[in-house]
Amino acid sequence: MADLILLGTNGMIVIFTMTFVLGITIGSFLNVCIFRIPLKEDIAVERSHCMHCGHVLKWYELIPLFSFLIQGGKCRSCKKKISIQYPLVEATNGILWVLILIANGLQWHTILYCLAASCLIVIAVIDARTMEIPFGCNVFLFCLGVVRLVLDYPHWYEYVIGFFAVSFFFWLIIVISKGKAMGGGDVKLMAAAGILLGWKGILFALVAGCIVGSVIHFGRLFTKKKREPMPIGQYLAVGICMAFIIGETFINWYISYLNMPV
Ligand SMILES: [Zn+2]
Repeated sequence: MADLILLGTNGMIVIFTMTFVLGITIGSFLNVCIFRIPLKEDIAVERSHCMHCGHVLKWYELIPLFSFLIQGGKCRSCKKKISIQYPLVEATNGILWVLILIANGLQWHTILYCLAASCLIVIAVIDARTMEIPFGCNVFLFCLGVVRLVLDYPHWYEYVIGFFAVSFFFWLIIVISKGKAMGGGDVKLMAAAGILLGWKGILFALVAGCIVGSVIHFGRLFTKKKREPMPIGQYLAVGICMAFIIGETFINWYISYLNMPV
């Protein structure tokens, strides 16, 4: 944050605006990933089109957030409603990128965290809809983690321990429950995010994700009569994103709290 303040007010407004615009632009690419990865479609080749009538979108219908608002959330060709998921994913990605920048400042790992947060949005939405975490997304996170380890090589052991810290216990739970309690995707997610965050960060992500998941699941028990299976990957993804933003501050506070004379 200190390096951001050095830029002055105008400099900060420029960099936050640029980060947000870039964030919502990547956000519209994430929407493409969310729809095409579960269908095993190519994410790069085909032009974006309306899900109802196949109308190929023109450049001015592809502007993140604004196209949706100007068109009133409807396809210009068939007038059918466009899913609210499009602007939500775009806005979430833009906001997350700005928050990660504010929390981490102008550091190399800020870029890694932004890319990881985008990947986690894709994971969370796909997991919520299909109860599966795409393997490719976990591989992408793992690669970001390896870059983080190389950038911070004097502390390499933090990241190696992070790789196993949560994933090992998840793996044990799977072995004991014979695969009924959770899926292998969650193990790989926590291993990949662990090497990116280090062991303190991934423990924070686990606790934060469990709290968010419990609160939401508890709320659902009252609103819906039927008990639903709970894909935990989406809550873990939320916990990991929280670790990117408030993890370090919380961990430092917690360590100083533990060291406080009683
Ligand atoms: Zn249409």
